[in-house]
Amino acid sequence: WRPDEEDDRPRRGLPGPVKVRVPAKVNLHLGVGPLRPDGFHELNTVYQAISIHDELTARRGDTLTLTMEGEGTGELALDESNLVIRAARALAEHTGMPAHARLHLRKQIPLAGGLAGGSADAAAALVACDALWGTDLSRDELAGIAAGLGSDVPFLVYGGTALGTGHGETISPILARPVTWHWVVAIADGGLSTPAAYRELDRLRAEYAAPAPLRSADALLAALRGRDPARLGRALGNDLQAAALTLRPALTETLKAGEAAGALAGIVSGSGPTCVFLAADATRAEEIATELRASGLCRTARTAYGPVPGARVC
Ligand code: ATP
Repeated sequence: WRPDEEDDRPRRGLPGPVKVRVPAKVNLHLGVGPLRPDGFHELNTVYQAISIHDELTARRGDTLTLTMEGEGTGELALDESNLVIRAARALAEHTGMPAHARLHLRKQIPLAGGLAGGSADAAAALVACDALWGTDLSRDELAGIAAGLGSDVPFLVYGGTALGTGHGETISPILARPVTWHWVVAIADGGLSTPAAYRELDRLRAEYAAPAPLRSADALLAALRGRDPARLGRALGNDLQAAALTLRPALTETLKAGEAAGALAGIVSGSGPTCVFLAADATRAEEIATELRASGLCRTARTAYGPVPGARVC
């Protein structure tokens, strides 16, 4: 018996600890249009949630506190800049509840990796505090609050596979027949800043006087419906990849190594530096991950599958 255990037991009908799992995302298609006057780029993207998860536990408390362990947490502040705290406060403001919770975050999604780990944690905090406080909002209401926290946060409230438009915050779920896709995720040393990747893309487009049409996701969507991994591999595309590769040229070698190891295709995930590879099946994915780990071209490589659900109480 410990005092904090006793504190977690349901009392006066209030719920005990709430544990939420939230996935990372990859962009199967990331079309980046011109820079808008509001400072955002117009996006046309297809997100998929994959089986690399962070976990957030919410307990009753008298104030709002956060503790963290795992991937990259030594580099993250625990203060109001943390997306978990910002999400809890946004939900409290929306519902009129006091922002009281003791939150504990266990991170596996690499920091600043292009897998939207921070956005995932914000989505987890919305779902966890909604359950802890009994505010019982719908997914659509939570996604509305999520949109104020970051472009990728609404998608991580829903998960699955979805089209993202606007600056990525307007989500249309893609209801395809269930297929599991097998991925290898090559995690690099250190992160890449998302704003720096967009700035580099703008610089490259200006330097080469390249037009910036917003590429449609139609080919990717057709490939998803086709259920053929080789076809999906050919349709993967990321307009931010060129920028990520000029900022981190070594990623070119990682992409080549994954394809040489048998991947159907490899792309930089979002703003990088994580690279993701599509494998024909789970066995091939394990083989590719083993070869990538042995290559020394990434910090580590793991297999994952998708789509998986978004932030959920477990
Ligand atoms: P995206 O794919 O959405 O561009 P990313 O995966 O490249 O994001 P994140 O891990 O989401 O990067 O982190 C981006 C930045 O968000 C971090 O550098 C950090 O400053 C900030 N941040 C705030 N709170 C968190 C959090 N709980 N976890 C991770 N990052 C956070």
